[in-house]
Amino acid sequence: MKETLTSHTDYDSLYIGGAWSIPSTKGLIDVVSPTTELPVGQVPLAAKADVDSAVAAARGAFDDPAGWSSWAPAERAAVLRRFADELESRGPETARRVSIQNGMPTSFAMQAEAQFPAVILRFYADLVSKNEAEEVRSGFFGGSTLVTREPIGVVAAIVPWNVPQSITFMKLAPALAAGCTVVLKPATETVLDAFLMAEAAVAAGLPGGVLNVVPGGPDIGAYLVEHPGVNKVSFTGSTAAGRSIGQACGQLLRPVTLELGGKSAAVVLDDADLAANVDNFFAATLLNNGQICHLGTRILVPRSRYKELVDFVTDLAGSLVVGDPLVADTQVGPLVSAKQRARVEGYIQKGKEEGARLTTGSKRPDGPGWFVTPTVFADVDNSFVIAQEEIFGPVLSIIPYHDEADAIAIANDSSYGLGGTVWTTDTERGNTFARKIHSGTVGINAYLADLTAPFGGIKTSGIGRELGAEGLGAYQQFKSIYLDRNALPATAAPGS
Ligand code: NAD
Repeated sequence: MKETLTSHTDYDSLYIGGAWSIPSTKGLIDVVSPTTELPVGQVPLAAKADVDSAVAAARGAFDDPAGWSSWAPAERAAVLRRFADELESRGPETARRVSIQNGMPTSFAMQAEAQFPAVILRFYADLVSKNEAEEVRSGFFGGSTLVTREPIGVVAAIVPWNVPQSITFMKLAPALAAGCTVVLKPATETVLDAFLMAEAAVAAGLPGGVLNVVPGGPDIGAYLVEHPGVNKVSFTGSTAAGRSIGQACGQLLRPVTLELGGKSAAVVLDDADLAANVDNFFAATLLNNGQICHLGTRILVPRSRYKELVDFVTDLAGSLVVGDPLVADTQVGPLVSAKQRARVEGYIQKGKEEGARLTTGSKRPDGPGWFVTPTVFADVDNSFVIAQEEIFGPVLSIIPYHDEADAIAIANDSSYGLGGTVWTTDTERGNTFARKIHSGTVGINAYLADLTAPFGGIKTSGIGRELGAEGLGAYQQFKSIYLDRNALPATAAPGS
């Protein structure tokens, strides 16, 4: 593998309370490139005392009577737009840092990590400026009621490594727009981008304590979730961790949004023209080395076109450019870690044992890096482990179906319900089919989340929604102030 890494990025302080502060311990996170297996950076590992400081800073900023939460939405929006500008100017470096940490191909990183965070910040800056935070309603029993939306408080935002900046801003942008303050915990695999993001926040003039960053592992995440100073938890990651966080929040009666795993179906209808949508099909099934929650990794194809479609998917996977994620035409980079590669290879072995037919892939290319070549299994039964469990790597399972009713039954026979796609030349037919899929989101002939629409899962894919106005609502709570209300009219009194 060609060596493309030239720099080592180090930080010795943590972004807490609007300043770069000395960490409470000498603990460090070493970041290793999945491409070269060489170190690329080092940052402090936050300890519990640092989380205490970060929550105290966020609490102080939120509770300050003249602070961020009390500002007019337009004032907050102005800062968010400056934050967007500062992120945009750092976009290429953000993309580079993400690629060298998690193996994301640069073509995707330049969109998802360099551009999307600024776009989403501006979207919520606009939304919160336009959204009426207060509404007077005519009272049912006469008089009127003022309904207000208030920021929910201090938010603990916990994010994974796979698309770290996009996912961070799906939480940060609406939370900050709503007037919340945030303690962000990035995953240990992707921290260098989070520090660059903090530099952008400083340059944008985000007031001290409004955003704090505590890099650490699951133990630090769990400590943050249960911290008494936190009012709301927003988590994206695995279903296993989501269950544990949901349990803790249930015990505390603490509001929580959970964006979890998936095992979505890409349903190819018998009139589909995949060749006309090849880029979209790739993006919906294998983007980011197969490390995206909503990918359609179960490909459902009609028996009437079975051989042709198995060949199509096999040829597509086999033709992808696998290599250094920093090279512009690379389509598939390495998996994030040796552990993740072992997990993916374990599932490939399981697929063979279950009797699925390997049609391409499953190889480690020569040289360093935690690569697995794009892998396709045909003749998969939906009950197989490789069809039921999230693999989180470039491994597709092709499952044949008889008719549309069979396809719906197979698509919905999953514990997950996050994404999904329908491939057809008849959009109306696709629309009708999409309504029958049990999941939070479905795309027709493409999958691209829309900023204006709620994104999230059902079943074990999560609870709650991000994006859209609904994503802002996740960081607000309602208060009803009963105005000029007289006593209950006699006619309305219970029993009258
Ligand atoms: P993970 O659950 O292991 O870790 C995610 C984050 O949570 C990390 O920051 C980690 O340190 C932290 N964490 C882990 N256990 C925790 C706990 N008990 N308490 C508090 N924090 C904890 O997930 P991962 O392997 O980093 O990411 C891959 C998973 O994320 C996949 O399952 C994928 O489907 C899911 N994901 C979901 C979405 C979505 O929008 N639904 C988006 C991206 C990724």
